[in-house]
Amino acid sequence: MTPEQLIRPEIQRLSAYHVAGAAGMVKLDAMENPYSLPDDLRAELADQLRDAAINRYPDPHAAAVQLALRQAFGIEPAYDILLGNGSDELIQIVASALAKPGAALLAVEPSFVMYRMIAEFTGLRYVGVPLRPDFTLDEAAVLDAIEREQPELVFLAYPNNPTGNAFERGAIERILAAAPGLVVIDEAYHAFTGGLSFLADLARFDNLLLMRTVSKLGLAGLRLGYLAGKPAWITQFDKIRLPYNINVLTQVAARFALEHVAVLENQAARLVVERERLLLALSALNGVQTFPSSANFILFRLPDAARVFSGLKQRGILIKNLHGGHPLLDNCLRVTVGAPQENDAFLDALRAELELEN
Ligand SMILES: *Cc1c(COP(=O)(O)O)cnc(C)c1O
Repeated sequence: MTPEQLIRPEIQRLSAYHVAGAAGMVKLDAMENPYSLPDDLRAELADQLRDAAINRYPDPHAAAVQLALRQAFGIEPAYDILLGNGSDELIQIVASALAKPGAALLAVEPSFVMYRMIAEFTGLRYVGVPLRPDFTLDEAAVLDAIEREQPELVFLAYPNNPTGNAFERGAIERILAAAPGLVVIDEAYHAFTGGLSFLADLARFDNLLLMRTVSKLGLAGLRLGYLAGKPAWITQFDKIRLPYNINVLTQVAARFALEHVAVLENQAARLVVERERLLLALSALNGVQTFPSSANFILFRLPDAARVFSGLKQRGILIKNLHGGHPLLDNCLRVTVGAPQENDAFLDALRAELELEN
């Protein structure tokens, strides 16, 4: 028996999620927060981690983490929380639970690639609806596709990755009203939006679930995402969550960091200021087209993205090349907003590369 004979053909056709090597580079490719915790907090965290009982299984419900999330982000007792090993795991849990034969997952394109990949893993029929060329939501096309395909599950990233924009709220509300199944609003970039959120809308829509992660806020290494929603939904999904998916060290560190969430939010606010500075500087460059962002990254287009991407890489700057990922992303690059000196290094290298073009 060979792997080719045994493995599902759709899995064989997939390529693994690619993560670029970044040793020694200015790393602006993965929407990480460039700042660490201040020294006094790191010392306190080290004390707590020293005492962590790594010989024991973790609390299966991570109750202390759940409480810290509720307090940090104002999640009301009326809603239950499901924790994931990153929000990627939550996408997988929800998709697995809904994957009846023939069931569909609908997402817009371009958007977060894991929606499509996880649809494939779980055997859901994937329906992708293109955004408009300016990356705004094509509401009529989405409503048509919902009517035609009757998807069990819709994923919308708000703001969207890799485009950075937040779709029009009214359009999302009409999608929520029209969808026959669940709609998950993925607010991975909530910290950078100045308060845009559908959290308060959980009360209005029975088919809404809200997903967030602490990754982009500055805790990407912990792998912690959360899904908030009505208990009737969360209770079902909790059945297929593996019992100890949030490990002891993550529970200790996340609870500690969330008790100091103001520090992380302050870092996010500094990144928003940097985002606006970076956006202005990019827009001023000849031949560069920028797109608006409510997140901690900026999408931009230039005449020869592949050449500039590898030129930047040779200069020690790693960003993300989106060219070839989707027809609408023709000649597009995405840069994560870093610390001021990282952004300056990126801008200097980009200016030098654009000079070569003239
Ligand atoms: C980064 C990202 C995630 C994944 O977050 P993790 O919690 O690190 O798995 C989910 N959704 C979107 C839209 C993202 O950009």
